[in-house]
Amino acid sequence: MSESYDAIVIGAGVIGAAVGMELARAGKKTLNVDALPAAGYGPTSNSCAIIRVHYSTLDGTAMAYDGYFDWQNWSAYLAVEDERGHAVFHHCGCLVMKTDQNSRLAPILKNVEALDIPHEHWDAERVRQAVPGYDLKTFWPARRMDDPAFGETGGGALEGGVFFPTAGYISDPQLATHNLQRAAEAAGGTFLFNRKVVEIPVAGGKVQGVVLDDGTRIAAPVVVNVAGPHSSQINKLAGADKDMRITTRPLRQEVVHVDSPEGLDFENDGIVISDSDIACYIRPETGNHILVGSEDPDCDEQQVVDPDTYNRDLTEQARTQAFRYAQRLPTLKVAPSPKGVVDLYDVTEDWIPIYDRSCIDGFYMAIGSSGNQFKNAGVAGRLMTALIDYVEAGGDQDASPLAFKLKYLDRSIDTATFSRRREINPNSSFSVLG
Ligand SMILES: Cc1cc2nc3c(=O)[nH]c(=O)nc-3n(C[C@H](O)[C@H](O)[C@H](O)COP(=O)(O)OP(=O)(O)OC[C@H]3O[C@@H](n4cnc5c(N)ncnc54)[C@H](O)[C@@H]3O)c2cc1C
Repeated sequence: MSESYDAIVIGAGVIGAAVGMELARAGKKTLNVDALPAAGYGPTSNSCAIIRVHYSTLDGTAMAYDGYFDWQNWSAYLAVEDERGHAVFHHCGCLVMKTDQNSRLAPILKNVEALDIPHEHWDAERVRQAVPGYDLKTFWPARRMDDPAFGETGGGALEGGVFFPTAGYISDPQLATHNLQRAAEAAGGTFLFNRKVVEIPVAGGKVQGVVLDDGTRIAAPVVVNVAGPHSSQINKLAGADKDMRITTRPLRQEVVHVDSPEGLDFENDGIVISDSDIACYIRPETGNHILVGSEDPDCDEQQVVDPDTYNRDLTEQARTQAFRYAQRLPTLKVAPSPKGVVDLYDVTEDWIPIYDRSCIDGFYMAIGSSGNQFKNAGVAGRLMTALIDYVEAGGDQDASPLAFKLKYLDRSIDTATFSRRREINPNSSFSVLG
């Protein structure tokens, strides 16, 4: 092999770039390889990039809260200029509606209270102050538009929600990833674009490096799979899929962009909202738009697809999401052919990521981000760096999983939560909420 590195990261999405940066900061000679022409050009570029702190597990919540502080201090975290400027964190907060489906947030409140995460209980009047014209009737179960009962109320009304001020969104996720690339390069990291990993040689049970589509062979004792929706293909290339109890798959998603209703300056006054009664999440979008995603109710078909050939056009699913949200904001106008994005999540059985080693020595994975790990990129970078150090120094991650010390919170998280060999976590929301 002509070139060699301490670690090769396959993928330069937001998590891949953060893993590269944290490994480079830890003194490793790193290479991020990506098949696309620039950092964050894959699913990361179409991410809603919502930064929020409510998760269904305590470790997931702690990880997200730690990650929030990276975004709050983004320029300080990067500690380097980027000729394109730094991504902006719109710190607008997130309202989670109290519904029957989320047990009025009781399990989530347990987690946020254990971590002293700031939150406010909002009644219906306070919700309507924040979003004038909001209709709080219940509509559950969530339906598709072709259901004759679409738009019928279930009777009664939502009582309000919980507002988390430590939340918001990044309006340019690709720029945030470019920022991480620049920070990685400042620490000595290297990036190679337009090159696909096509082979992962293994000898004596140990990874040797990667082979690229132009025949280049690059040696490294450590290779990290951060290939997003291609993660299961990359695991197969290495033969690293043999002992996994949790697996990953590419799941097609549509996110629709609608204009704010007249008189509502949602771009400046809007907040992020998660509403399990209508199974939608929303956030303000540049141009006074509202971006509406699905919270994966049973009526929305789960489309596992080939990551190289899937349909990138919006379908009726996009209009369904927009109309589901129009139940709350009846003045919302939905165009016959709305705008939006189509991209892929890399989903595990329990919608919780895998941050782990593999059965091949030196081959690691930060995969299965299940539509909810953009916010955790920095923490995932630190976690993977600590886990790789631990295992390469002889630690037995499977028998004695690392207790990973968070950067900003005075606590550790049990990395067994993210093991490829865990049982399916019954506490998960089994949706994009994680
Ligand atoms: C529509 C949508 C909305 C989302 N909303 C949110 C949200 O609001 N909040 C949140 O926290 N998260 C959200 N997410 C999830 C979040 O965006 C992802 O978890 C995150 O972007 C994944 O980053 P990644 O580094 O794993 O790589 P990805 O962006 O998945 O990229 C993987 C990279 O690997 C490269 N690659 C693949 N195979 C190869 C190969 N053989 N050789 C070389 N390179 C390869 C690809 O080219 C690609 O660039 C959303 C995701 C989507 C799709």
